[in-house]
Amino acid sequence: MNQFLQNNLVPIVVFLLLLIFLLMGGMIFILFRLLTTAKNEPTASTPLEKPVLRPVADKVLLAEKPVVENYYCIHHKDAPSVGSCLICEEVFCADCLVDHESMHFCKEHFRTYANYKWKQITDVRTTPDTPEDGLFIYNFKRDLWLNKSIPSFVMTHYKINIENDYIESFIQLNVREDDVEKLTLELEKYKALD
Ligand SMILES: [Zn+2]
Ligand SMILES: [Zn+2]
Repeated sequence: MNQFLQNNLVPIVVFLLLLIFLLMGGMIFILFRLLTTAKNEPTASTPLEKPVLRPVADKVLLAEKPVVENYYCIHHKDAPSVGSCLICEEVFCADCLVDHESMHFCKEHFRTYANYKWKQITDVRTTPDTPEDGLFIYNFKRDLWLNKSIPSFVMTHYKINIENDYIESFIQLNVREDDVEKLTLELEKYKALD
């Protein structure tokens, strides 16, 4: 047995070290998950009759995302904001924000979301080298809301290439079914001006 230990000391030590690293990695991962899920406490969500979309959670922040300057709910001056509504982009506290399938809406716009059928009209690919490629969609969406009160929302779908450590994102603008034709044309024009 001693002979065996002596002959295999190096691989045994390497194996034990690897084991320790793996365990530490696992613990750090679990801790990280606990911390991040604690931050995203679900808020009261109203049941929805028809699940319309199943987009991927918009968790990674993009450079083109609006900077949240207001840290308090627009309805409750002393309640810290926990996120912004996908439609109006205002910030809200946990009581005012509805979390639905990883999408956030204020109560008013959750009703808007639930009352219409939505269609995705863009799927613009951006990469870390071309982060601005989807910017016109965010600007278009904001213009629609601020100038015409037309609701729409942007979802970002991420594809992560693990080998190359490379993230592609797909910027997806969702509009009401009845607006599809009109807004697709308007977006084309908007992009040409951009
Ligand atoms: Zn809203
Ligand atoms: Zn509030």
